[in-house]
Formats: sequence, structure tokens, C-alpha cells
Amino acid sequence: MKYLTTENAKTTKGESLGYLTAILYLAPSYLSGRNVCPHASAGCIAACLFSAGMGAFANVKAARIAKTRAFFADPKQFIEDIAKDIEAAQRKAGREKLTLCVRLNGTSDISWEIYGGKAGVSLMARFPEVSFYDYTKNPSRVRAFLAGKFPPNYSLTFSRSESNGDTALSLASAGANVAVVFDTSKGDALPVEWAGRPVVDGDVSDLRFLDARGRIVGLRAKGQGKKDESGFVVVV
Ligand code: SF4
Repeated sequence: MKYLTTENAKTTKGESLGYLTAILYLAPSYLSGRNVCPHASAGCIAACLFSAGMGAFANVKAARIAKTRAFFADPKQFIEDIAKDIEAAQRKAGREKLTLCVRLNGTSDISWEIYGGKAGVSLMARFPEVSFYDYTKNPSRVRAFLAGKFPPNYSLTFSRSESNGDTALSLASAGANVAVVFDTSKGDALPVEWAGRPVVDGDVSDLRFLDARGRIVGLRAKGQGKKDESGFVVVV
């Protein structure tokens, strides 16, 4: 089974900036029967599970569930298989004269830094030349990242929800970048700042590891997120 995707709307935006993005999409929350989002909120689950985009298609959903079950069935083998996909993506990036980056939590929130393959080595250590990046709602991971206890090639952006707002503000004060979903329509400008910090437009590209520190990463609500009433989407 091929695990990483290099062709979708997010990756196309990155290519125009010189990056090939390989993304792993698992079945979010409990969709597979096993939870891959231990810090999810009701609002983000509702926005994510049945969101517009590829995940809404039955065949795509089934493939994501199969990948998630493969991970839980044998995590070490899963890491080995992902490593093969990264090697293939590196070859593709080389052919297309692009720089490879990898996002493992496309639709999950797993602490990939603690998983090793058969030799117990993390993917970040195995591919030190590759930039890994993720959004996360796990504050412990972001604190470790800010404290320099993360692999140097793995960048994290904290993801605000309706249930972690205070944590988001405190992590922003500590220097973390925080992603915030606004009710801004496609094509409209995001707020200039939020919580006293400058907002960068996270919809221009998904290349979060290139963001300057201390930024709010503004995202426009998409799919079911447009109907959010939980507070997950910030009304501007
Ligand atoms: S938004 Fe993130 S944490 Fe929430 S369900 Fe989706 S992947 Fe999981």
C-alpha cells in the first residue's frame, strides 16, 4: 500500500514555491475504530470528519481507514513502509527539481517523533535532510518543540480549538505559532492580527516550517467548518 500522497491542492501550492510535499492522511478521530486525535475537540472533529475535499469520498475514506489500521497493527512495519514512500518521494523531488517536505499528520495527531522502524530510529533521524512539519493540538509536543527537545528537522504549529483557547494563548506567548480557523470567506483577507500577534495567511501554502516564529497562522473555514457553532471557527 502507498501511504504518502504528493498530489492534491495543498501540495500543488507548495510546488509553485519549489517544494514537493508528501502528506500522510489517516482516518481522523475514531473513524477507524482507533483514536488518532487524542486532543481533538467536538468542533474540530465535526469540521474534519465529514469535511469537503477528498475525505468526503467513500473510497478515500476506506483507504484512510485501511492505512490507520495498518499503523496500529504493526507500527514498526508502518514506519518502514513510510520510509520507502519517502525515498520514492525524494526521487520524484529530484526529478522535478523540488525540495521534499513531509507532513505525517495530514488528518491525525500522532507523536511521530517517538516512533521508530525496525531499528528503532525515527523518520526524522533517518531523513535529516527532509523538513517534517505538522499541526498539533498536543501542548506537550509544542512545549518540547519550543524547548529544543524535538528533532531539528521537525516543526510544529499549535492548532487552536474551542476547548484549548487559553493554552493556545499561553503557547503563543511562549513563542509558538498557533493556527486559528476564521470564518473569513475564500478570497477575502484574514484579520491582520489576533490576540495581539500578526496573522499570516496559512491558505497561501501549507509550508508551515517556513513561517517566522510568533505568528498566528490564519486559515479559512472549509467544508463543514463553515457551519460551525462550537467556537472552533473564530468569527471576525
Ligand atoms: S482537526 Fe486535527 S485533531 Fe481535529 S479531528 Fe481533524 S485531524 Fe484530528
